[in-house]
Amino acid sequence: MSEKKSPIYVTKSSMPKYEEFIEAIKPIWDSAWLTNMGEFHNQLNQKLMEYLGVKKLSLFVNGHMALELTLQAFELEGEVITTPFTFASTTHAIARNNLTPVFCDINEDDYTIDVKKLENLITDKTSAIVPVHVYGNICNIDEIDRIAKKYNLKVIYDGAHAFGETLNGVGIGNFGDATMFSFHATKVFNTIEGGAVAFREERIETLLYYLKNFGITGEETVEFIGGNAKMNEFQAVMGVCNLMHIEEEVAKRKAVVDKYEELLSGIEGIRLNVSQQGIKRNYAYFPVVFEGYKKNRDEIYNELASHNIFPRKYFYPLTNSFECYKSNFQIQETPVAERIAGSILTLPCYADLALEDVERICSIIKEG
Ligand SMILES: *Cc1c(COP(=O)(O)O)cnc(C)c1O
Repeated sequence: MSEKKSPIYVTKSSMPKYEEFIEAIKPIWDSAWLTNMGEFHNQLNQKLMEYLGVKKLSLFVNGHMALELTLQAFELEGEVITTPFTFASTTHAIARNNLTPVFCDINEDDYTIDVKKLENLITDKTSAIVPVHVYGNICNIDEIDRIAKKYNLKVIYDGAHAFGETLNGVGIGNFGDATMFSFHATKVFNTIEGGAVAFREERIETLLYYLKNFGITGEETVEFIGGNAKMNEFQAVMGVCNLMHIEEEVAKRKAVVDKYEELLSGIEGIRLNVSQQGIKRNYAYFPVVFEGYKKNRDEIYNELASHNIFPRKYFYPLTNSFECYKSNFQIQETPVAERIAGSILTLPCYADLALEDVERICSIIKEG
C-alpha cells in the first residue's frame, strides 16, 4: 500500500462536465442578465419544485440567508427552541434575528431533536421551533406538529442535509411551516453557494421575495428592512446542470455508504447511523460514533489524518458551547448532544470516493 496518496477530505464538490457548464452559460452573454431573478433562476426554481415535490420554493444566495430571512418573514418574537448539534448557521440565524435560542437535547440514535424534552422548554415567550434534519435523518415530524399546534408555534426546519429526501413518498419540504435547503459546494446538490426555502403560504412567498431584495416593493417604495440574498444566474446554471445528474450522484453515494456499512457494522464500540423507516435517503453523510471502542474518536481522527485522510468532527463543538452564546445567553444543558459531539466522526462521503478508498479507511479504523 503506497503512503503517497493524495489527500481525501470529508467531501468533494460534485460538478458537471466543464463543456456542459460552458455551453449552458452561453445564453448569459446574449442576455447580459446576471442576477435579480433572471431566466435561469426561474428555470431552476421550477425544476427544483418538481424534484423536491413542493408547491412553493424561493431561491437564495445561500442556505444561511434563506433561513435567516425566513425567520424574519414569520415575524417571530422571544424564544426559539432548537438543537446545538448542528452547524453554526442554525443558531446564528435565530440570534441574528434578535431571538433567544433555547437549546433542546437530541436523540441518542438519530441526533435529531428529542421531542420528549421539547415540551418542558416551552414558555410563554416561545414563538417557534427550528429542528434540524441532521445528516439527512428526519426529525419526529408528527410529534413536533402536535406540540406546535398545541402551543401555537411556528416550525421552520433546517433541512440543509435533507435535499431530495421523502417521507412515505412526500417531499421533506412539505412539513412544518417552512424548510430550508442548502446548496453549498459541500452538499449533495450544489449551486456553488446557494439555498432555498420551501413553504406553504402565499404571504411568505411575497415577503421572501421582498426580503431578499432589500425590502424593495416598487420603483419608489421600500416597505421592509430586507437584505440582499438573491441567487445569481451563474449559480442557477450550476444548479440546472447538477440537477440533471442528481440521481446518479445519489446512487454513487449510496454505493459508498453501503460499502462502509458492510465493513463497519457489527463491531463492538462502533455505532453507525440509524436507517429510518419510510425515508428515501440522500446519503449525504456517514457519521460514526465511537463509544467503548479500542480507540476514541480523537485517536481515530489522528490516525486517519496521519494517512492523509481528513474526516470531520461534525458536530463538535456544540453551538451552545460557542463563546458568542455562552457570554450572551442562558445555556441549557444538553448531555446527550455533548456525549455524541465528543464521540462522533463524519467519514469521507462523496459520489467520486473510490470504494478502494472506503476499504482503506475502514482498515485503518479497524487495525490502526
Ligand atoms: C450547510 C448548512 C447550513 C448553511 O448553509 P449555507 O448554504 O452554507 O449557508 C445550515 N445548516 C446546516 C445544518 C448546514 O449543514
